[in-house]
Amino acid sequence: MTLRVAVVGSGPAGSSAAETLAKAGIETYLFERKLDNAKPCGGAIPLCMVGEFDIPPEIIDRRVRKMKMISPSNIEVNIGQTLKEDEYIGMCRREVLDGFLRDRAAKLGAKLINGTVHALDLPSNNTGAYTIHYADHSDGSVEGVARTLQVDLVIGADGANSRVAKAIDAGDYNYAIAFQERIRLPDDKMAYYEELAEMYVGDDVSTDFYAWVFPKYDHVAVGTGTMKVNKADIKKLQAGIRARAAHRLEGGKIIKVEAHPIPEHPRPRRVVGRVALVGDAAGYVTKSSGEGIYFAAKSGRMCAETIVELSQNGQRIPSEDDLKVYLKRWDKKYGMTYKVLDLLQTVFYRSDATREAFVEMCADIDVQRLTFDSYLYKTVVPANPLVQLKITAKTIGSLLRGNALAP
Ligand SMILES: Cc1cc2nc3c(=O)[nH]c(=O)nc-3n(C[C@H](O)[C@H](O)[C@H](O)COP(=O)(O)OP(=O)(O)OC[C@H]3O[C@@H](n4cnc5c(N)ncnc54)[C@H](O)[C@@H]3O)c2cc1C
Repeated sequence: MTLRVAVVGSGPAGSSAAETLAKAGIETYLFERKLDNAKPCGGAIPLCMVGEFDIPPEIIDRRVRKMKMISPSNIEVNIGQTLKEDEYIGMCRREVLDGFLRDRAAKLGAKLINGTVHALDLPSNNTGAYTIHYADHSDGSVEGVARTLQVDLVIGADGANSRVAKAIDAGDYNYAIAFQERIRLPDDKMAYYEELAEMYVGDDVSTDFYAWVFPKYDHVAVGTGTMKVNKADIKKLQAGIRARAAHRLEGGKIIKVEAHPIPEHPRPRRVVGRVALVGDAAGYVTKSSGEGIYFAAKSGRMCAETIVELSQNGQRIPSEDDLKVYLKRWDKKYGMTYKVLDLLQTVFYRSDATREAFVEMCADIDVQRLTFDSYLYKTVVPANPLVQLKITAKTIGSLLRGNALAP
């Protein structure tokens, strides 16, 4: 037999999964409802993604080598000081990055279907097929032509509002709402952001997250996020970041306004039967940083690698237990990263006093090195015990100085 796998959604998660499956010769169908989708996103990717996913240089619009953390009282700390010459944070337009990953998967053999998946019929036994109901847009119409496809396995990579997750009753997660304006700046103002990104913290810009100004291709993305999802609140917070960065955004023109949910933790069930969720559909965005592109691509690849291995290159249909091996591997590799970033958010985004302490701490070179190494390479490199002790002492010192631990 040849295993048939449907991957629903061709963001970084879906295309990375489809690429791995297609390379192994597995019959792979990659569904995408909108081939020119521009996912609302800051578009920042860590250096390790460029290497691990062979991202060509032209996909990266800007290489950020300087980062400013800006405290509630507008104290600015430069945090790129430990970066080596060839190290950077990549800034991409999602329509470009996603298009590249999708096309590569299709060139390697994944059958790309421009279709919106509406429903999934579950099989009545362990080996029966899943039936996917979708609207085929290949005729160019928005409503499309109703069609069905039968497959043995489904990967849900259809983002935060995942229909696949609903179909398998994967359960809900809490989410933040992120709001972003793309602003085109006059040349002299844009020059400032040439290779610089800014992160602002404070109750005025977000009560539980951070706000950002990220340089993009020919504009900056200015945005904020909050778990306290409320339309009026998010607009107030966006006004907050616009006010804080006003002098740097002077003369800018808004060219796009966008908003989207960001999952706050994994769904209660990420594998049900022969359906696995990856990326935002599974809930793999980190707290504190709100990072999800790399984790989406990585989870898609890891899930697909597990399928290739346990199906013996498509010669047998993997079971639910087989798919759960992907979850075990994922949790083992990244469980601690999620826990640490969750804890950081709880401690440091609690009040303006803790945020002041956080920014103060970021001035420390050892803290910067640890933070950047963890972000750029996704390895929690344990610092030597002396440095660790110094960082802990500095953390406590900063918190105490700001009276941040007062109840
Ligand atoms: C404002 C904002 C800023 C962010 N900034 C950053 C950042 O700077 N760096 C970072 O790492 N992360 C960032 N994130 C998070 C990041 O955008 C996500 O974690 C990432 O996009 C997840 O990738 P994914 O492939 O799982 O899902 P998505 O990127 O959401 O892709 C899902 C794909 O599935 C398609 N699809 C959905 N439903 C269907 C359907 N029914 N049928 C067919 N196709 C379907 C969609 O069109 C889409 O192409 C940000 C998020 C937001 C909202």
